[in-house]
Amino acid sequence: MKSGSFRQYRSEIPAPEPAAVRSSCSWCHELNAVGRRFCAACGHSAHLPRLHCECPDCQHGRRLVEIGHAIDALQAQLDAYREARRRPQ
Ligand SMILES: [Zn+2]
Ligand SMILES: [Zn+2]
Repeated sequence: MKSGSFRQYRSEIPAPEPAAVRSSCSWCHELNAVGRRFCAACGHSAHLPRLHCECPDCQHGRRLVEIGHAIDALQAQLDAYREARRRPQ
């Protein structure tokens, strides 16, 4: 074995992640690598505010809220229409 090969082997071992490239999840405070999109612990967007979470669960939830608001608006129009028809001309 040539001298120097051991040192080369050592340099291929990945260095442990420095603390600076990890930040805590805004949902569960789990530390995640900054490059990671979703939290390893809870699955939400690890580095976005909760309101802007891009995980499938939150996007689905927000879509349901939007549909709920649209249905409320239609229901209000329908109520107004029925009320107008009920009144004597
Ligand atoms: Zn989390
Ligand atoms: Zn989420």
